Amino acid sequence: MIHEIFPVGPLQCNCSIIGDETTREAMVIDPGDDINDILETIRKHNLQVKQIVITHAHIDHVGGAMKLRAVTSAPILLNENDYALLNMLDAQADWVGMPAPGKVEIDQSVTTGQTVSAGAHTAQILHTPGHTEGSICLYFAPEKKLIAGDTLFAGSIGRTDLPGGSMQKILRSLHNTLLALPDETIVVPGHGELTTIGEERDTNPFLIRR
Ligand SMILES: [Zn+2]
Repeated sequence: MIHEIFPVGPLQCNCSIIGDETTREAMVIDPGDDINDILETIRKHNLQVKQIVITHAHIDHVGGAMKLRAVTSAPILLNENDYALLNMLDAQADWVGMPAPGKVEIDQSVTTGQTVSAGAHTAQILHTPGHTEGSICLYFAPEKKLIAGDTLFAGSIGRTDLPGGSMQKILRSLHNTLLALPDETIVVPGHGELTTIGEERDTNPFLIRR
């Protein structure tokens, strides 16, 4: 598996490029900004982007999606429960002081029970509401790797004070869905350092059951 992770934009959203070494097919997860850097990495590995997957409709995760679609013709995937947030990108741009990216068109809604693939590498979609109504994670079971968006961070969890956020829902998503994964699962959060499910189960102050 080719997996490049790099922070993009002023809020340093972790963008992932996942590719198949044989077929050269790829998916890009959360192209929030810095599309030229993303395209450079795609060219470096000689990859063809087949899908653009958005973990949730916050501007730092979705801001560059239309630019990337224009170059690659790959469809943009987002859970439909975040379509309302997507219509608030202008307001979101004001909150964080970023230029508004214009309208983002979604080609397909994805949710639990569906999969997305880059060649031979397939991820299960896990709908994990709480940070936003439509937050999803991607779980690559054979590789034991989780792309967590802003649902789980090393030592913390996603904020729930923005529109669509719910502390009750994010805790349910974390306990019922993410902590059900094996301890050795590598977690790639939406921001910051990588971690594992086992590490967070043992030490994350939001997840330790008292
Ligand atoms: Zn977010």
